[in-house]
Amino acid sequence: MIPGTMMDDCPLTLTALFARGGTFFARNDIVTRRLDGSVHRYAYGDYWRRVRRLANALSRLGVKSGDRVATLCWNHYRHFEAYAAVPAAGGILHTLNLRLHPTDLGYIANHAGDSVLIVDSSLLPLYERFKGAAGGIREVIVIADDEPAPQGCRDYEALLEAESDVFDGPPIDERQGAAMCYTSGTTGRPKGVVYSHRSTVLHTLAACMTDSLGICENDRILVVVPMFHANAWGIPFCAAMTGASLIFPERDLRPEPLLDLMAAERLTVAAGVPTIWGGILAALDENPGRWDLSALRTTIVGGSAVPQAMIDRFEQRHGVRVVQAWGMTETNPLGTLSRVKRHMQGWSRERRLEARATQGYAVPFVDTRHVDDAGRVLAWDGKSLGELEVRGPWVAGRYYDNDEQQDRFTPDGWFKTGDIVAIDAEGCVRIADRAKDVIKSGGEWISSVELENALMAHPLVREAAVFAGRHPKWDERPLAAVVLKAGETPAKEELTRYLAPKFAKFWLPDDYLFLDELPKTSVGKFKKSALREKYGDLLLG
Ligand code: AMP
Repeated sequence: MIPGTMMDDCPLTLTALFARGGTFFARNDIVTRRLDGSVHRYAYGDYWRRVRRLANALSRLGVKSGDRVATLCWNHYRHFEAYAAVPAAGGILHTLNLRLHPTDLGYIANHAGDSVLIVDSSLLPLYERFKGAAGGIREVIVIADDEPAPQGCRDYEALLEAESDVFDGPPIDERQGAAMCYTSGTTGRPKGVVYSHRSTVLHTLAACMTDSLGICENDRILVVVPMFHANAWGIPFCAAMTGASLIFPERDLRPEPLLDLMAAERLTVAAGVPTIWGGILAALDENPGRWDLSALRTTIVGGSAVPQAMIDRFEQRHGVRVVQAWGMTETNPLGTLSRVKRHMQGWSRERRLEARATQGYAVPFVDTRHVDDAGRVLAWDGKSLGELEVRGPWVAGRYYDNDEQQDRFTPDGWFKTGDIVAIDAEGCVRIADRAKDVIKSGGEWISSVELENALMAHPLVREAAVFAGRHPKWDERPLAAVVLKAGETPAKEELTRYLAPKFAKFWLPDDYLFLDELPKTSVGKFKKSALREKYGDLLLG
């Protein structure tokens, strides 16, 4: 082998990535809309100065290479400062999911070995509830706007005030941990993944590509995805590297205030889960012409399946383009992305829409395959269903300090996602179900995701989740939990008539439950385990 003659040892670090935003795009703005409606706005230059101060403060508090610094924060500019400062100081940014139960939070903070916590003052009562179980936390830094930090805690602003703008950080190895997240997993204990500097830098480069999210300096991006969920899908890193502006909604995720922000700030990109977009679509439909979204070039929607009808309605009625992405906490998170390829441009509108409603094909350097129960690799025929497996430089190779879940990784180096999919000849992945949500009726598969998507295309339906009901003869049968649009009256027969032409007869739900609200997980996905628990015995009589 003749080695390359390049500087292959030049490390891929997040520090370099953030420095780029702070140096080259010092004038571009970063905006936070607070709960009271007031707006905080500053420029990347100020941001970067404060990041260096925070990194100094953390080092002074004893944060060393590999130390875990937890955040318990909403989406705002100081959380974004921690995103840069903790890894720059050599630490690992551990974003705690503030929607979890305190028991889980205590377990997670303890398992991760968090030693410092940065917390919003509004979330201190939550911290109080798990603090006993997270005894390793020796320093608590409070982000408080009005009131002083409580006794025994440090004040975020006072810490920054006392520091210098010059930060001479420790050397960073690109393979060392930079950030970590736990998956909220509905079975077993939450599992942690540690993202390295290298994996996040490579993920950022791939995510920013024109044919991926296409993020560039001109963009103004709304971060609806919680910053505790898989690094807000990596968007803060994409913005820092390119100088794109970030717009944080803090904690107010109601459709109308979000739309106000999107229009006022002339946003070009917004990212969030389908439940958020469903609400936004309904608000747009109810108030035609109220918001000017002409600057918006794309919305990135993922985290759960995006109904085809949603993609269609956004585009047809409001001229907004939806790009579906698939990913997981374990994949940093971007794995696949749905784009219409050049040769598909000539397809009928309906066929193109169908292609866009799949989870799409892999981004560069991520490999996809799917396997049957016996572990045999399946054909990309668009029909054969099996478990999706992925590998790549930003896919987890193991969980943090966890021996129980090693069976999620195959001996030949793939990660088993738990998603049941078909893959077509284009390489496009279509998710039929989470393995745990699969409905098996008399031994035959029924895809809850396909039924939900079809139901959500019905004009009366706002949200639908299909789940397995236990059945004496068929073992399991589909049940549909449906939220109707305001003022509509339930009509089970009407929904069955609507689904009938689209599905085999045995796929049609045995019953419908009309609910005011569907249970959701901590990150806004339908919580089918809760539906199964509560209504799963409905068909047993
Ligand atoms: P999390 O680790 O919490 O982000 O959850 C990852 C899981 O969310 C995946 O394994 C999928 O089951 C689901 N998911 C993510 N994106 C999509 C998508 N575009 N369509 C369907 N399911 C998705």
